[in-house]
Amino acid sequence: MKILIAADMEGVTGVVCWDHVAPSHPEYVRFRKLMTEDVNAAIRGAFDAGAQEVLVSDGHSSGRNILIEALDSRARLRCGSPSPLSMVSGVETGIDGVAFIGYHARIGTENAILEHTWSDERVADLRINGQSVGETALNAAICGHFGTPVIMISGDQAVCAEAREFLGDIETAVVKIATGRMSAECSPPEVTGQRIHDAAFRAVTRLREAQVPPLLHFAPPLTMEIDFVQSEMADKASQLPGTSREGRTIRYVAEDILTLFQAFRSALALAR
Ligand SMILES: [Zn+2]
Repeated sequence: MKILIAADMEGVTGVVCWDHVAPSHPEYVRFRKLMTEDVNAAIRGAFDAGAQEVLVSDGHSSGRNILIEALDSRARLRCGSPSPLSMVSGVETGIDGVAFIGYHARIGTENAILEHTWSDERVADLRINGQSVGETALNAAICGHFGTPVIMISGDQAVCAEAREFLGDIETAVVKIATGRMSAECSPPEVTGQRIHDAAFRAVTRLREAQVPPLLHFAPPLTMEIDFVQSEMADKASQLPGTSREGRTIRYVAEDILTLFQAFRSALALAR
């Protein structure tokens, strides 16, 4: 059984503001260590439940956050950017289940730490087939394309609720209760580590017992709409062939989620 741990940083133990996750800020040093610890807890849980192989994907910013020197030696790390599948790099290698660690809620969620969808500066909303989606659903749909279910998530209470909305009864590990966008009641690493371990253990155990959560799938043709923060960004993004435009929104129709994802990243790169 091969497990992918796809890690982001905003939902890591103790993180409540951008300074904590910005490589240029002195506080970042503490939180990349905590990110590595959250990931290690999931790795331990997966192996304790019988996983044979664990791949880790570093998905925050440029994918250079996890401290490889402190990573559980049984795992391998996919890091750096850009990579074709970005936050779920490695899911194309024949993975049985994916754990999302350190995730955050989609843009517009109330009481959710650093909620955003891919780019806080550029994206005011992302919709697929009319439904507002964040990174949890977008990445889960990419996993679904490869026939791989998402089996657990860790982060604040908001992203865990969002995951259940799209993915049903998956295992969750709440590491903090957000009381705003930049405030939360946080549990210390000793507590959250146990919580993440136990959720990963239960998730992989369920997978081994053939209780496989449903794959997230959006029915084709897939209509993507990106609401940009500024109209200038839509001016730039609408240069992407095949898009149509309405105000700050650009629309693109794709036959599959991988094409949609390529168009999404291209539009955001143009809009920069
Ligand atoms: Zn991030």
